[in-house]
Amino acid sequence: MKVTEVDTPEHEEVVRFEDPATGLTGFIAIHSTRLGPSAGGVRMRPYGHEVEALNDALRLSRGMTYKNAAADLPLGGGKAVIIGDPSVDKTPELMQAFGRVVQSLEGRYWTAEDMGMTPADMAQIGTETRFVAGLADGAFASGDPSPVTARGIFSAIRTAARHRFGSGELTGKTVSVQGLGSVGHHLCRFLHQAGAELIITDIDAAQVTRVAQEFSATLVAPDAIYEAQADIFAPCAIGAILNEASIPLLKVGAVAGGANNQLATEADGQRLHERGILYAPDFVANGGGIVNVATEILQIADREDWVAARLEALDRTMDRILSTAARLSVCPNDVAERIVHDILHQKAA
Ligand code: NAD
Repeated sequence: MKVTEVDTPEHEEVVRFEDPATGLTGFIAIHSTRLGPSAGGVRMRPYGHEVEALNDALRLSRGMTYKNAAADLPLGGGKAVIIGDPSVDKTPELMQAFGRVVQSLEGRYWTAEDMGMTPADMAQIGTETRFVAGLADGAFASGDPSPVTARGIFSAIRTAARHRFGSGELTGKTVSVQGLGSVGHHLCRFLHQAGAELIITDIDAAQVTRVAQEFSATLVAPDAIYEAQADIFAPCAIGAILNEASIPLLKVGAVAGGANNQLATEADGQRLHERGILYAPDFVANGGGIVNVATEILQIADREDWVAARLEALDRTMDRILSTAARLSVCPNDVAERIVHDILHQKAA
């Protein structure tokens, strides 16, 4: 196993790892440990080039610093990427080798599931390190975070509705949902139970049919979701979908969803603001997932109460962000970034 340091200007520590015996290659990026040990999932993807993988790790680990700070967790931001196709290249030996890399960082980075990973993979990693969360079994195992993530997004939608339409009541409101996977499916259930009408899409036809039947939703083709007439748009699939091309098409009053990195660029937050579309910052809206994972890292005994209190706090943070943004007439994302910046600098002082 070869583990080498990568010099980067903004991050505290970045390592590249390569293990020819198992085919493991990738990066762990620790953006910040100011608030505590860094935490963030490991993603496995068939990146075209190493630079692409490194950039993903750098960007995502910075995002984790923001998300963990916004959720008021004593955790910093980190992320790992493994280069490879999880359906072909992933083996128990490869996962164990990755566990040895995590262990070599002596707790400065905690790993968990991200794209291409399962609780079974976490169990393999856990044979080599204790700095792993998202396990299915064990004293503090937190399991699948997506139901808690969806609960947090549901609150963010209600809060955004209150700010944009004067009421958080969702009966009679229409919500368009992009992506019906782990998060999107749970979110649709909460929205349906609250009386919202749903317009849904996914590139996976089976998911669309299942959710359409379960919640009497209207389905549209993947590209048509941006033009759907709705009150709120909830992106729950991929990143960078709020961009120069999609924003002019939107026919909604607010955007509040769970996907990471929804804004393609900083300018897109301003674009939404100029169109009068209220944007609930993603790294605040989807913080429920890391709150759930944190119960395992921090070994929280009264899990249910602790998660509920953190979700309420997250919702108050969203409320404060949207109020401040309205008062200053600026994009909520700018306010959210400033709040996190202040948290990081106050706690570090
Ligand atoms: P998932 O893989 O279970 O589901 C994603 C769904 O999006 C899939 O059904 C997929 O077919 C669909 N999809 C992909 N591209 C699409 C497109 N162009 N148009 C429409 N649908 C498309 O993932 P998930 O766990 O539900 O996560 C969804 C998003 O939420 C991701 O951005 C993830 O990073 C973010 N997130 C998830 C969690 C969590 O707890 N799972 C926590 C925080 C953030």
